Amino acid sequence: MSLKFYNSFSRKKEFFKPIIDGKVGLYTCGPTVYDFAHIGNFRTFIFEDLLKRWLIHTGYDVTHIMNITDVDDKTIKMAKDQNVDLNIITQGYTEQFMNDLMWLKILPADKYPRATKSIDKMIEIIKKLIDKGHAYIESDGSVYFNISTFSDYGKLTRISIKGQTKSDRIYDDDYDKNSPQDFALWKGWKKEDGKIGWDAPWGKGRPGWHIECSAMSSENLGNHFDIHCGGVDNMFPHHENEIAQSICSSGEKFVNYWLHSEFLLVDGGKMSKSLGNCFTVSDLEKKGFTAESIRYQLLAGHYRTKISFSLEKKQESDKVISRINEFQSLLIDLGAQDIQRKELPNSYYDFVEAMNDDLNTPKALGIFHSWMRQVFKKIKTDSIGEREIGEAWNFLTNFDMVFGFLSAKTFKIPLEIKKLMEIRDAARAENNWTLADDLRDQIQEKGWAVEDTTKGQKVKKLLN
Ligand code: AMP
Ligand code: ZN
Repeated sequence: MSLKFYNSFSRKKEFFKPIIDGKVGLYTCGPTVYDFAHIGNFRTFIFEDLLKRWLIHTGYDVTHIMNITDVDDKTIKMAKDQNVDLNIITQGYTEQFMNDLMWLKILPADKYPRATKSIDKMIEIIKKLIDKGHAYIESDGSVYFNISTFSDYGKLTRISIKGQTKSDRIYDDDYDKNSPQDFALWKGWKKEDGKIGWDAPWGKGRPGWHIECSAMSSENLGNHFDIHCGGVDNMFPHHENEIAQSICSSGEKFVNYWLHSEFLLVDGGKMSKSLGNCFTVSDLEKKGFTAESIRYQLLAGHYRTKISFSLEKKQESDKVISRINEFQSLLIDLGAQDIQRKELPNSYYDFVEAMNDDLNTPKALGIFHSWMRQVFKKIKTDSIGEREIGEAWNFLTNFDMVFGFLSAKTFKIPLEIKKLMEIRDAARAENNWTLADDLRDQIQEKGWAVEDTTKGQKVKKLLN
């Protein structure tokens, strides 16, 4: 079965066909770096990671761009409130965001363009919009997009602009879906902006939030690209406005597939700082969460349904993760890494079908779990053969490339260590404990720890 995605634009599942065979241009709206990213933001970023991992697993060469919003109403307000330069605020939160991404095993994007480094491109687009009659300059040096000049305005979110009058315009970056208005492409400099401002042909100022993504996407992926993602709250006004700006300035199609992830709730309710449930990655790390356990909670529900994160579910997700890891250890003990076979079990193909169907993770995980349960049984009853061990290893490694649930890297035991273990086995059989201890030390010096179990010796790679 071929890959299908639910396109938020058409509100239908559509077969995925990239613009260039074998290649995918993917743009995901990145964080606004005025605070630590919270677990809700990471639901969206982990969904995007899953999408990208699936595209790579399917064989696509993915170019992924994630922007960093380092100038907008929120970042400026934070800099003003804390009485520091804007870049002091944005630099620190960007660094923390990068650490969080790595900790959560989110594959790095090809590029993380920063809005403040793409101002020239934004000015170029705004200039085109003014020249083509889609934008107008106000007396304070601000530039607004005239939404009535774009007949497709509102198509993504299905809003009507019929009641809108020419004098309705909005300066703020974020506003309500019930009041579509002309929106700011450029905000004329005000005294309160202090040092923040760039020169433009129509006067000094700063960009509106929406123009930033139109500029950074076209600069890095071209005017027309394959997939654009974000959380559902980005659909209006952000993505609706991006579409208007990009199409009206370039005259080309903008995005082929829009994918939006639903909101994350915490304990069934909204996240809010006052409720103390806006967990950051470090908050969860301090509470003993592992990256895998968080990934599991966020991926166990389908990306288009609201899911609820909860501290109480930690035990359950930890259990699932340790079961999968135990499964991996058992397969390693059975020599799975040395079996050079390419076969995959039938369940793998069901798994692929579920993932190809708009990334149906609950179904795909269900298939994986019931298959794993059966293989576990066979291992425990010693009724598994080489072919099945090989198949199991292949499914597990493919599965992990997509979900990232295996905790530690597995290290293949080098031949030299295997030899020393063999000699140690013989020494133990002859009750030569001095030699056995000496060999244990030699193995340890080479970076491996040996453990004697009822089933014989086990070695583990020592991590620095
Ligand atoms: P922001 O830093 O506010 O620009 O948000 C970064 C990303 O997180 C955007 O794609 C948002 O749509 C997404 N986001 C924000 N809050 C949530 C939430 N509670 N659940 C899921 N995604 C969210
Ligand atoms: Zn964006």
